[in-house]
Amino acid sequence: MSSAIHPEQIFRPEILGLSAYHVPPATGMIKLDAMENPYPLPPVLREEIANLMMQAPINRYPDASAASLKTSLRRALTIPDDMSILLGNGSDEIIQIIAMAAAKPDAVLMSVEPAFVMFRMIATFTHIRYVGVPLKNDFSLNLELMLNAIAEHQPAVIFLAYPNNPTGNLFDPEAIKKIIAAAPGIVVVDEAYQAFADTSFMDELSEYPNLLLMRTLSKSGLAGLRLGLLIGQPKWLEQLEKLRLPYNIGIMTQLIAEKVLHHTAVLSEQAEAIKSERAKMSTFFATMKNVEAYPSKANFILFRVNKASQIFQALKQRRILIKNLDGTHPLLENCLRVTVGTPEENSQFCTALQSLLNEIA
Ligand SMILES: *Cc1c(COP(=O)(O)O)cnc(C)c1O
Repeated sequence: MSSAIHPEQIFRPEILGLSAYHVPPATGMIKLDAMENPYPLPPVLREEIANLMMQAPINRYPDASAASLKTSLRRALTIPDDMSILLGNGSDEIIQIIAMAAAKPDAVLMSVEPAFVMFRMIATFTHIRYVGVPLKNDFSLNLELMLNAIAEHQPAVIFLAYPNNPTGNLFDPEAIKKIIAAAPGIVVVDEAYQAFADTSFMDELSEYPNLLLMRTLSKSGLAGLRLGLLIGQPKWLEQLEKLRLPYNIGIMTQLIAEKVLHHTAVLSEQAEAIKSERAKMSTFFATMKNVEAYPSKANFILFRVNKASQIFQALKQRRILIKNLDGTHPLLENCLRVTVGTPEENSQFCTALQSLLNEIA
């Protein structure tokens, strides 16, 4: 009898209706689709990590509170002493923890559109109603629309990525402050790309009691470790901490992240290299006809062409993988997103794009 039971009878309809987050195969490709830092750690540091791994007591559970790692994060990121830290298996897990905690029957999770797709997806996972407020055509915040939506929907949580993904721009900080002041619930400023932006809401944490700040090590060179963090007033984080699964940060992640955080100069030099390549690529885009590239404070550039899907496919055939955003949102029609890679990778991408634009557009 039980073999006749189908998922449709058991699982929530909104889960059945989801399409899984698609990660395209990238073996042998120039991988410029996922905002990874293209640079490996220096050999000396990798050897130190190898030694750490040799000693690691992997038969034991990791430190559940990751106290030592938190101390290193506090120092490396200059987190104010009176703010607490919550660690996640990537910041994706933190978004999920916040959404789970806030998902009362009529609660709303709000973000802008286009934004990081996981805000919407995780709202669906956790059964909290999602409201996406459109950005302006230039991808800036539509403050009036946002304030109206806040008044109408009374969101429990608002997520704003600063800089925004997939658009790469920083929203006006004054507009964000007005949103924080108007919000009836918490506002999470997601600073996944802070390493490339030279600006932060860290100093505003003490000013706005309903502000929480999210960071990740993923875009700065440690995507494989999966470590994200939330920073904010203890009264919020104490509650969220209850939803964190006991050993969500593995021992390898704890040890390696802590080691690398004692060498932050390595990461900041890599971020500087990425920023200077970003500037070169922007210059390149500016010289090209039939391309509109948007200003970026992140480690990727959003650009618009005439036939995005054709260009995307043709690049893929040349073993260059970027992200096709055409069709994902009306404001992103014919838009593509390229992650800033090494100078070699970027120049291969630019050369290929140039010749494809001559052929196709
Ligand atoms: C990449 C990204 C994240 C997720 O990062 P992880 O820490 O790797 O889970 C969160 N927010 C934004 C805006 C991102 O682009």
